[in-house]
Amino acid sequence: MQYDANCIFCKIVHGIIPCAKLYEDDDVMAFLDVNPVTYGHALVISKAHYSNFLATPKDVMNKVMNVAQRIGQVQMEQLGAKGVNILINCKEAAGQEVQHFHVHVIPRYKATDGFKLELKQLKDVNLPSIAAEIKEKL
Ligand code: 5GP
Ligand code: ZN
Repeated sequence: MQYDANCIFCKIVHGIIPCAKLYEDDDVMAFLDVNPVTYGHALVISKAHYSNFLATPKDVMNKVMNVAQRIGQVQMEQLGAKGVNILINCKEAAGQEVQHFHVHVIPRYKATDGFKLELKQLKDVNLPSIAAEIKEKL
């Protein structure tokens, strides 16, 4: 299993740093975020060290997302959440602080419960041209 001795999430996987664990199997671990933005904010990670979303193999990704979905369901059933935000920050430009692939599962209780993505819209965009640029390499 890929391991980075300087990585805080690898240390959690190997029990060097404690966590409030929710779930563990051979490939996936889930635990509460130490600085939650809402009540029950969870992180789901691959146990192997992959530095981000784009670097994670598909089979591992599927396993992580399956656990994230289940945790979201339980946050609704058990904590009384009314919705869930799934958030993946990929690379520093996107706000990723821990360079080990993880999915935030953020239970939502109401629109004003403390978590908000600020979305500022771009002006004067040429959608067909952008779509063509992306599709060229898909
Ligand atoms: P990122 O910005 O990389 O997507 O988010 C990393 C998250 O990991 C942050 O929300 C932060 O609170 C959480 N985190 C960082 N260090 C620890 C830790 O040692 N234990 C736990 N449980 N969460 C951590
Ligand atoms: Zn790691």
